[in-house]
Amino acid sequence: MSTVEQETQARSNGAGAKTIPVTNKATGELIGHGPDLDREQIGELAARARKAQPAWDALGFGGRAEVMNALRRWLVANSDRLIQTISDENGKAWEDGQLELFYTADALSFWGKRAKKYLKDQSFHPHSPFLIGSKVILRYRPYGVVGVIGPWNYPLINNFGDAIPALMAGNAVLLKPSSITPLTSLLVAEGLREIGAPEDVFLVAAGSGGTGTALIDYVDMVHFTGSTETGKKIMAQAAETVTPVTLELGGNDPMIVCADADLERAANAALFYSMQNGGQTCISVERAYVEEPVYEEFVAKVAERARTLRQGVPAGPGSIDIGAMTMADQADIVERHVRDAVEKGAKVVAGGSRNERGGGIFFQPTILRDVDHSMEIMKEETFGPTLPIMRVRNTEEAIQLANDSQFGLDSSVFTKDRDKGEQIARRIEAGATVVNDCMTNYFATEVPIGGIKQSGLGARHGPMGIQKYCHTHNILVTRFAPKRSPLFFPHDKLTTKVIGGFIKLLYGRGGRRKA
Ligand code: NDP
Repeated sequence: MSTVEQETQARSNGAGAKTIPVTNKATGELIGHGPDLDREQIGELAARARKAQPAWDALGFGGRAEVMNALRRWLVANSDRLIQTISDENGKAWEDGQLELFYTADALSFWGKRAKKYLKDQSFHPHSPFLIGSKVILRYRPYGVVGVIGPWNYPLINNFGDAIPALMAGNAVLLKPSSITPLTSLLVAEGLREIGAPEDVFLVAAGSGGTGTALIDYVDMVHFTGSTETGKKIMAQAAETVTPVTLELGGNDPMIVCADADLERAANAALFYSMQNGGQTCISVERAYVEEPVYEEFVAKVAERARTLRQGVPAGPGSIDIGAMTMADQADIVERHVRDAVEKGAKVVAGGSRNERGGGIFFQPTILRDVDHSMEIMKEETFGPTLPIMRVRNTEEAIQLANDSQFGLDSSVFTKDRDKGEQIARRIEAGATVVNDCMTNYFATEVPIGGIKQSGLGARHGPMGIQKYCHTHNILVTRFAPKRSPLFFPHDKLTTKVIGGFIKLLYGRGGRRKA
């Protein structure tokens, strides 16, 4: 997309003269501009979204699903341009961009079909004898205007991807993408315009971190994906207005390799899931624990393959395996963690340093051995193409070390014994675990996935992945409505005694366990 086109899009999304330059992260070249909206402009966008929302809600699930399906077809028809934009502004390989399209197309189809089922009214027969004959309904009602704040590592999945269920629930959405990767979100907005989607139900509130701060003050609910540090700030700000938030934050995902694992598969998976997207994936493998008998063989396999990976400027399908680091600050963290590990006794068996190429920032695919928990790389989120591999005596030690973390996002276990794998999985303190693969539970859209501990609050996917974009509305219709209920004033001794007798009769006996 040309700079001129981007500026046109920037204006149509509310920007005046102020824009932020966007570069190709693998080459450093200028590829466009994103809007840099101020507080007043965010207020204007929010007002437009608020005005558009009731008609969007009134369109119903079927009408909204039609829009989602039309957008899905548009994204696929424009896939080359979309993947190119993602790859350019992020610096990632074509295949990593294609994975974003794959997830998003599937999510558009999934939420288009499932939203109605997950949000349909539910009727209940009340348990309380006070409510005999009453009709109780649980209803999901969209908040109104939802703010989605997204990171730079997945400009499509973790940005517009999180807007899909919010839109399907009947909300209007203001999406604040990262200031360094706004072009993909603007392209999606262009797609919605081209397919004739109702105006102003999806608006890109692009700008700096300050734009995100303003956005929180104007919306009815915030879904945030990004660092734990920023997530805490957002939660604190939202507390001022009691605005609901869900947070998808950082991680330091462990992989456990048992002595009975298929080592070939485990090594291939370890390499792919630690390096894919340049290691800049929240649910990437960040640390591996390998049982003693297979440690040497596993390290040798992973290191040998890491040395063959092709890193460089993405030039279309199949051109490279690993792209650039998107942010200079992130590359500094990766460098610091590797240096710290080496100073404390770790050995580099592949890569280990920056790999400067033209205007992009690259870090070599790096494998470390002889690591331990005194090292930052095992305790903090590194978010780069690194894999530290630690030797453990047995699975008990592996589980204990996997759980020795402030984070709890995803995790994985490799063993040929699937029952054992499931038992180990049940003991890992994380929001998700995969046995004999990694990360793929992100594609199981039927099941909630989210972080525990400092990795987040709430989840995406499954019923709660869309119910979170609604508030519940409890409606009770009283069927028997005599002039006076036993609860009404004035209190009298007889009624109180009769109610007391009922309480004793109903709840004073039974429920004891047999010895
Ligand atoms: P940041 O927390 O730096 O930024 C995320 C978004 O928040 C950006 O749009 C940013 O804008 C904005 N922002 C920054 N400060 C504020 C603020 N005070 N108020 C409102 N918005 C603000 O995260 P990164 O972009 O660096 O993303 C990487 C992080 O995201 C990693 O920690 C990774 O683990 C996590 N992540 C988690 C996922 C999950 O599902 N759990 C998935 C993907 C990533 P700007 O960029 O303009 O500063």
